[in-house]
Amino acid sequence: MDFATLTPAVTSRLAKLGLLRPFDLVLHLPLRYEDETQLVSMRDALFGAPSLVEGEVLSCDVQFRPRRQLVARVADDTGKLIVRLIHFYPSQAKQLTVGNRVRLYGEIRHGFWGDEMVHPKIKTVGENNSLSEALSPVYPTTAGMAQHQIAKLIHQALAASDLRDTLPPEILEPLNLPAFAPSVKLLHAPTPDIPNIQLTERTHPAWQRLKFDELLAQQLSLRMARAVRREKNAPQIAPKGELARKLLASLPFGLTGAQQRVLLEIEHDLAQPHPMQRLLQGDVGAGKTIVAALAACHAIEAGYQVALLAPTEILAEQHYRKLATWLEPLNIRVAWLAGSLKAKAKRAALEDAALGTAPLIVGTHALFQSQVEFANLGLAIVDEQHRFGVAQRLALREKGNGPHQLMMSATPIPRTLAMSFYADLDVSVIDELPPGRTPIVTKLISDARRDEVTERIAAKVEEGRQVYWVCPLIEESEALQLQTAVDTHAQLTEELNGIAVGLIHGRMKPDEKAAVMDGFIKNEIQVLVATTVIEVGVDVPNASLMVIEHAERMGLAQLHQLRGRVGRGAHASLCVLLYSTPLGELAKSRLRVIYENTDGFEIARQDMELRGPGELAGVRQSGVPMLRFADLEKDADLLDVARETAEHLLATQPAVAIAHLDRWLPGREMLLKV
Ligand code: ADP
Ligand code: MG
Repeated sequence: MDFATLTPAVTSRLAKLGLLRPFDLVLHLPLRYEDETQLVSMRDALFGAPSLVEGEVLSCDVQFRPRRQLVARVADDTGKLIVRLIHFYPSQAKQLTVGNRVRLYGEIRHGFWGDEMVHPKIKTVGENNSLSEALSPVYPTTAGMAQHQIAKLIHQALAASDLRDTLPPEILEPLNLPAFAPSVKLLHAPTPDIPNIQLTERTHPAWQRLKFDELLAQQLSLRMARAVRREKNAPQIAPKGELARKLLASLPFGLTGAQQRVLLEIEHDLAQPHPMQRLLQGDVGAGKTIVAALAACHAIEAGYQVALLAPTEILAEQHYRKLATWLEPLNIRVAWLAGSLKAKAKRAALEDAALGTAPLIVGTHALFQSQVEFANLGLAIVDEQHRFGVAQRLALREKGNGPHQLMMSATPIPRTLAMSFYADLDVSVIDELPPGRTPIVTKLISDARRDEVTERIAAKVEEGRQVYWVCPLIEESEALQLQTAVDTHAQLTEELNGIAVGLIHGRMKPDEKAAVMDGFIKNEIQVLVATTVIEVGVDVPNASLMVIEHAERMGLAQLHQLRGRVGRGAHASLCVLLYSTPLGELAKSRLRVIYENTDGFEIARQDMELRGPGELAGVRQSGVPMLRFADLEKDADLLDVARETAEHLLATQPAVAIAHLDRWLPGREMLLKV
């Protein structure tokens, strides 16, 4: 078989399915299977599951009410059925000619007029039509490409392709995995002896083999990308640690065990001659900033510059202030670069970067821009890394001479997902919160009881605490979202007489935002009404109540992040999730997850279960191919094995690894770049 012999119409349809070469057809595995091996009598056919029945057509009419449709009655010795075709072709009407014997494959339902099959698969039965012996595959397909057409192409591709194994028996046997050729053949044309459930549930060894191959290819490509990176040079940073010691001595707290551990991991990487690529994970409030600051001290002490990037100006500015208070007493200049700076200030910051007069530059994505040059960038720190796209992260990597990179994220990634999508990163986890935090209590309250919430706010402020009020995300309209925030601010100002209520939203000028944040930090503002701009990173330990309006509209990761803005001090904290009724089932389950869990990892895991991994933050733009056959949760064991096998193959039989990748990911050059 050769794609060149196919018509352009066919190749373009195949391309739509991602099928560009014969081997792609070999790997185009069935979505599900239909069982046409057993005839059942109409009386015994089960409801709600597809079955195959055979009978004689008693009548067949085109009806016009409620709409045009073909309705036939078919009977066998045990009962009868109505066949209803809402769209039909003349050929189907002909099959259902009175007196014909037909086989019908479909689901039987109780209709108003009796048992019926809607749009069954119909076959006319002639003299001696034997039943098919095995399950029939059903392929993913596209408009204009019928099942039998794609099946035919696949069988041609199977016959014409080299199906020899890419993996040697000494790999497969200990894992109890069957050979490749019989496995694909079986999945495309199952034999009668195979239990349907093993095929549909994808537990059959043949499925295991294909899923393993897919996972192995993914692991190999990620590891090779990492190897490519390892060949690049980066400054070896192994200073005495004087600066870091001084910073630590100036703090009112000591590091937690987890912070010390991740710092050691970072220090180890910095001392290597190739770029660090480490993801620092820690739940909100775990204390990632100080770890980043200590890493920055090492680079600065060794004579290099450090850039710290944050996704929003509010967060970047907060980092800037915090780092300046920490480091300027140690005679380290901290520069600030944001898109909103006036020309003169911007020029000064750019000069600081280019001349090396400021060893630490904090900023937003403005730091990615091409006019920004660094004298000798040694370390780039990216906060809330999942907020940046791949392209932006790459742009930063191009700055300077291959700097070390430390990425930080509070969005916890479940282990299987991390292994799968971030396998080319090293991951450090701060899995312990600083001592003295009181757990946050979460309450779900219907917005009909909003008055009680306002009373609670007044009481909190009376105790000396501060409050966030987060307005709903209105995706359809930013103007509407703004309006809601403005209205809420006005309403709360009126209701909370004598209490300073501030407002912050995305449309304010950066210096206005900064002024409001400043007022909140200094407790001149007690209640801060905000749109979701405060989601990331804002740190005001005295704030101990958070109210989130229309919580049902927000993502779980977002709710968890928002909730993490309180519970940062020693005061008992409360997060009120206001929802409006009625709640749908999915909304209910999601709110239950956030209500019942405080551990970000567990929330992310359940979120993934509810929505599927593709929706999780960052995965979409990660540049890593999505899995077609394997399932990260169900096949976690296979993923473990694939990871070990990938490591083993690359170390001992790289040629085998390459051959395997050629089969599964022929376009992997693209991946290697990211
Ligand atoms: P995140 O990991 O969410 O970025 P931050 O770095 O903003 O968290 O830290 C949250 C708060 O905890 C900050 O006020 C920080 O100064 C404080 N903090 C960090 N480490 C410790 C520690 N070891 N002991 C006490 N407080 C700490
Ligand atoms: Mg942070």
